[in-house]
Amino acid sequence: GELEPFNNFPPSDFTIKEERDAFPESMSKIRKDFGQRYPLYIGGQEIITDDTLDSYNPADPSEIIGTVCQAGVAEVDKAVAVAKDAYLDWRNVEPRERAQYLLKAAQYCKDNINDLSAMQVLEVGKQWDQAQGDVAEAIDFLEYYAREMIRLGDPKRMGNSPGEYSQYFYQGKGVAAVIAPWNFPLAISVGMVSAAIVSGCSVVYKPAGISSAVGYGLVEMFKAAGLPDGVFNYTPGRGSVMGDHLVDHPDVSVIAFTGSMEVGLRIQERAAKVHPGQQHCKKVIAEMGGKNGIIIDDDADLDEAVLGVLYAAFGFQGQKCSACSRVIVVDSIYDRFTHRLKEAAESVKLGPAEDPSNYMGPVVDKAACQNVLNYCKIAEEEGKVLVKREAPLEYREKSGCYTPMLIVEGITRDHRIAQEEVFGPVLSVMRAKDFKEAIDIANSTRFALTGAVYSRSPKHLDLATREFRVGNLYLNKPSVGALVERHAFGGFKMSGVGSKAGGPDYLLQFMDPRLVCENT
Ligand code: NAD
Repeated sequence: GELEPFNNFPPSDFTIKEERDAFPESMSKIRKDFGQRYPLYIGGQEIITDDTLDSYNPADPSEIIGTVCQAGVAEVDKAVAVAKDAYLDWRNVEPRERAQYLLKAAQYCKDNINDLSAMQVLEVGKQWDQAQGDVAEAIDFLEYYAREMIRLGDPKRMGNSPGEYSQYFYQGKGVAAVIAPWNFPLAISVGMVSAAIVSGCSVVYKPAGISSAVGYGLVEMFKAAGLPDGVFNYTPGRGSVMGDHLVDHPDVSVIAFTGSMEVGLRIQERAAKVHPGQQHCKKVIAEMGGKNGIIIDDDADLDEAVLGVLYAAFGFQGQKCSACSRVIVVDSIYDRFTHRLKEAAESVKLGPAEDPSNYMGPVVDKAACQNVLNYCKIAEEEGKVLVKREAPLEYREKSGCYTPMLIVEGITRDHRIAQEEVFGPVLSVMRAKDFKEAIDIANSTRFALTGAVYSRSPKHLDLATREFRVGNLYLNKPSVGALVERHAFGGFKMSGVGSKAGGPDYLLQFMDPRLVCENT
């Protein structure tokens, strides 16, 4: 039958008792399986390796989530070979039939949404609602890309010249290497992987080391969907050991990467080099970092703006590519805004994400913690502390990966803290003499991912629409929380190359268009 039009999947409403009560049950349930070994999954086979990596709970590093087998060069070669072989059949499967596998995987996620979200709370320290939002987004990608492939799947007749039948259609490019970040550990992985699969590519998927147990969820969902063996392969591994090898491999046709600018630029450079035996130009899709600003105009609704900035800067500890790391405040409202921001920041609770009354928890791991602490030092040197809060000692004593919640003011555009992506709970306050200067400041980084404006002036909102040059701009709402289709997501400049995830051009990147013209 016909599919219903796409709609975003509604996450649980934790204000409803039954939905709230179901969540801790899922946390206890998945905790019972903690410590298990996660194998690689290549060609439908589980593969055990000697090299393993433990994934731990950032709120309490002594709690081991699981021991994850690590692919090395040999396993990457095997996975690419299997995927290359599977591609030959998979590319000929009808687009509508390929879409059905995504719909089945979406059903698996809907049926297991609490377990999948609970795993994120414990493996990466996402707050309950944010973890649910991530799984809901994964469902959305599956449902949306399934429909997109059906839309694009039928050959299109070109022109109407008599005596000629000319048709335009697409084929999957080949083996796709999908290299994912840990911060939206299910959604971004599922988005890139499902787009490649439904487009007729086969996939070698490398989750981030920190979130490989969440990443194993893809194995389970595609098994449940009955996807043919070899179309999806799970090869977690250390970027430093097998990352370059996967990128350089002559049989990889597409690389879909989401992560930092440094790694994204490295991948683009390496992918341009042709290796012996390589028969195609590699296509790279790279979604990278941001240094996102929110502008507070002199007539902003401060009730909304203060909560919006707080959430965009400190939700999930500021570890979102869309997080607000600069708030740019027009001079005439500066004192009122900063006073209220300080009060709001001082009123929220800090502690583990497992307890939903906590607003902000630990960052994702020990290395991230050290990196954020270094930037806190830089921020305190460059600016003046407006807010600095620590999580209660009882949590820090468990050597959880806690950093302060830090807001500094007096930051100008040439400070490092105004230019470099921290990826943690550090917010710079910048003062602008008027709205126009605020836009100049907002645009003054090499990134162009998200931004937001709080203003009641239609003229200023128009000006921002034209001149605040970022991939996703939000007017009178926070810079975070993009929804598939409604807020198709992605940036430009040093924030990435490629068309928007969850948008109408995304699948085209995984396919080669063909034209067949018959003289009739
Ligand atoms: P990261 O760049 O450190 O790692 C991303 C992935 O690349 C990981 O799987 C990692 O193992 C792998 N990798 C590392 N070295 C590699 C190499 N030499 N070759 C191939 N792969 C390699 O990023 P992260 O810490 O996982 O994620 C945070 C970053 O991601 C932030 O910069 C954030 O802004 C960005 N991000 C961007 C978006 C977006 O849509 N634009 C979304 C989420 C996150």
